[in-house]
Amino acid sequence: MKLKKTITKALNTCRKPFDDAKKLVFPTGGIDRFRFDPKKPHTYHFNKKGNTKLGGRIFSFSTLMADYTYKGMRGVLKNIVGTCKNCAACATSCYVRSSYRYPNVIFAQAVNTWGMRNEIDKVENDLAAELAQYKPEIVRLNQSGELEDDEQMAMWCRLAKAFPDVKFYIYTKMFSIAEKFLLGGLVPENFTVNYSVWHEVGVKEYEKVKHLPNVKAFVYDDGKDFILKTKYYCPAYKIPAGKTRAVLNHDFTCETCRLCITGKVKVIACHDH
Ligand code: SF4
Ligand code: SF4
Repeated sequence: MKLKKTITKALNTCRKPFDDAKKLVFPTGGIDRFRFDPKKPHTYHFNKKGNTKLGGRIFSFSTLMADYTYKGMRGVLKNIVGTCKNCAACATSCYVRSSYRYPNVIFAQAVNTWGMRNEIDKVENDLAAELAQYKPEIVRLNQSGELEDDEQMAMWCRLAKAFPDVKFYIYTKMFSIAEKFLLGGLVPENFTVNYSVWHEVGVKEYEKVKHLPNVKAFVYDDGKDFILKTKYYCPAYKIPAGKTRAVLNHDFTCETCRLCITGKVKVIACHDH
């Protein structure tokens, strides 16, 4: 009996550091979370926790960034390729990249990417159920990732129409998709579309839709070829004295600022993206 107690105590002592290490690598629940079998019951979710930049109460939905390929693990999702096109300018400095040190972030985005490509109706139904249940005030679409086709834009428009009290917003460089829906009168007013502009990219496209109340331009100002001038700068980034690279300014979040989400300001510049 005494021996059994001694062995159990020894095992527990070894297990603790192992469990602590496991939590660091898989912060939200261990390796079982990395299983996804579309044939078994599963549900798609918004991220409901926000983040340092968004603030704590903005819901978001993300897919894999750029051309990142989720290689997968044995028996689970494999070779899911990122969703961003037209991202030659932003992919290398993409803000999402730093979050990819957490395997659970990549996995969740791989699941969402698969869902949007293979069973978008289920994604829509699951997300609608969460909107009805949690009634968020603001939803950021594609916190990571991009629109891939008309079907995805139509889904977001339907959800925005079904939940008029929720403010939806997105940034996109898929101007041809956004334009069709905007000029076709299919984007509800509670859904703001921010055209991501960098140098001359996106300027002509923005000019075609800028008369619409729910369209804005979000312009990356790297000090060169800054075409769409504005006095409004994203307060979430500032350039410290003596430096050239912007850093996050934790005094502001999107939740408190809201320049890209509502209001009459049309052009917002940013020192980072
Ligand atoms: S900045 Fe946006 S569009 Fe560019 S790679 Fe990152 S998620 Fe994709
Ligand atoms: S301008 Fe405001 S809402 Fe837009 S990204 Fe910056 S902090 Fe967020």
